[in-house]
This record gives sequence, C-alpha cells and structure tokens, in this order.
Amino acid sequence: MKTIVVDDVQQNHATIQRCPQIRPQIRPLWATAPQIGQPTEIATGLWLLSLPLSAALDHINVYILEDNQGWTLVDTGSCVPLCQSALENALSQPPFGHRPVTRVITTHFHPDHIGLAGKVCERGAVLVTSRTCWMQTRLLTLDVHPVAQPHEIRFVQNAGMKGIELEAFRRRSPSNYAQIVCPIPAAYQRICEGDTLQIGDRTWTIRMGHGHAAEHVTLWSEDGYVITGDQVLPGISSNLSVHPSEPHADVVSEWIDSCKRFSRLASDDMLCLPAHNIPFYGISARCQQLINSHLTVLDRLLKNLSQPRTAIDCLEIIYRRSLKPHERGLLIAETIGYLNHLYHQGLIEKEKNLENAYLWHTR
Ligand SMILES: [Zn+2]
Repeated sequence: MKTIVVDDVQQNHATIQRCPQIRPQIRPLWATAPQIGQPTEIATGLWLLSLPLSAALDHINVYILEDNQGWTLVDTGSCVPLCQSALENALSQPPFGHRPVTRVITTHFHPDHIGLAGKVCERGAVLVTSRTCWMQTRLLTLDVHPVAQPHEIRFVQNAGMKGIELEAFRRRSPSNYAQIVCPIPAAYQRICEGDTLQIGDRTWTIRMGHGHAAEHVTLWSEDGYVITGDQVLPGISSNLSVHPSEPHADVVSEWIDSCKRFSRLASDDMLCLPAHNIPFYGISARCQQLINSHLTVLDRLLKNLSQPRTAIDCLEIIYRRSLKPHERGLLIAETIGYLNHLYHQGLIEKEKNLENAYLWHTR
C-alpha cells in the first residue's frame, strides 16, 4: 500500500474540524474579531464588514472598497432578513451612505457570498464575477424543486446511506438554494484569471481558485491586500465537497493545485482578507498548513481502507467525533471528495454492493 507523503507534517489534525489554533507563522491582524455589523477600516478606502449568518458559521466578512463614483462591495451575505438588514444599515451610515454601491464583485456562488447581490444590483450596481459563478447562481436559483431529486438520492445511496436515514432523506423538504439567494441580474461583467480591476486608487489582479468552488475569484492588490473569499481561510479549512451533480469530481486536487499556486504568488507582507475569521499575514504558511492537514487526513483514510468501506463508514475515520445530523450531509459530500481523490490518484478501487453503495478499498 502506498503512503501519501506529507511535507513538514503539522501535528494539527483537526483543521477540518474547525481548529481554532493559528500557527506561529500566521499573524492575525487583530486579537479579537470585529463586531458584527460594525464596519472596520483596514486601510484607506478598504473596509471590512462582518455580517451575521444563522448557520454553523455565525458571520461572513464582506469588503467595501472606495471607488470613483461610489463603493464596490466584495461579497454580500445571504438573502435572509438578519443579514440584509445588517448590510443595508451599514451601507446607509457614514462614510458609505452618501454614495451608492456601483459594483458588486462576488467571489463564488455560495449563498453567503452572493445571496444579496441581486438586491444590491436592483439599485443600479453592476454584478462583476467569473462566468462559472454567474452561470451556477443563475442555474441554481431557477432550479427549485419540492422534493429530493433522483440524482441526489442516488448520490447518498452511493455513499452508503440506507434504512431510516435514507427514507428520511427522501421525505425531507429540500433546502433550495433560491430560499437564501435572491435572483441575480440576467447580465453581468465577466472577470477572468489575470484581469486587472481599477477600484478607486487601487489596482487589483484577479486570480482564480478551484476546489471549494469552480472559478473562485480572489483579488490581489498592488499594495499587498488579498481578498481570498473561502479559498484560503484562517482557523477553519475550506469545505471541499463533491456536489451530487458532479459526483466523481476530484475537488481535492483542484484545491491543492490552487493553494500551491497562491502560496507561490504570496509574500509574507501581504495581508489576507478572508471571508471568515480575522485577516492575517502569512498566506503561504497557511496554504502549506492546510495542504498538509488534508494530506494527513488522506493518509489516515488510506490506511483504513485495507477493508472495504462505504463513504459513510469513513466519516468517523476522517472526523474522529460523532457528527450531528445536520453536519452529516455536508461531511458525507466532503468524504466523497477525499475518496474520489484517492481513487483518481490510483491508490484505491471501488465497486458497488447490492444496496447500490460504493465500497472503497486499497488495491
Ligand atoms: Zn464558499
């Protein structure tokens, strides 16, 4: 059996389980997180606004950039009343209230990032994002269905879900994307890898990440600020889930490749402005730490696949704690991401059992 080589293995195996520890070479900008709903100026013309979320993650950081005719907003929060009122309240106060938001840049299609973009654009702002982000959001906001779809049921069956849990999954009311993402404009401004955007006095270069979301926009300013969205985060790791619409994807490879590229692009004096938690210095160190953490999990998983297991059987091996029911869906999808990665690396095989579940095992 092959072993995955982990360079400079960190002793922290808990990153995926939302480890609060930040390594010494990663320096947070502040000792405590800014107050939710209160804009904080990071540099001239560059503000962080933390918005409330009613999810496992209780906030998202959006960024407000001074622009020539008004403000550019990077990410928006979800389309839920709590978040919408916090955003509207902040944007109506000084220094923002006297000029409009003229552009909304969204990093990726997840609801906490693009949920309110349509609302802001109703007031005249232009939506600026990657083609994948725009298309995926348009598709998903239109794809409303009252019950779980056959490909979603097949996805969890393939993962090993059965019995009472599978029946509950069939009967549950699906959480439609459109419930927390308002419709986005039918036209937008596309940005691509390597493009530059002039926003006020700053020039930002666009770098695309992958794995957490396809064509995930990140913005790199000439004076050392990097808005990373969910691509690089402190304290927690980016979720690397496989979606039922693309069940064989190797999102782990995509994410690791992006992180290696960002690690090479970054320098220690660059300030990372993430979508969750506190801005920090040390992007390269954080990328390496996150890569190592994923490789450690993959190695542990591989060592436990000498006997055939379903994805659901692997949950405890990966997360090493009992999972709450609401966590299982997301973590099953992430577990399939790990298994797909080992499979695409040629390290494991899979075959289906009589219950339509894949059994994964080493060669
Ligand atoms: Zn995300």
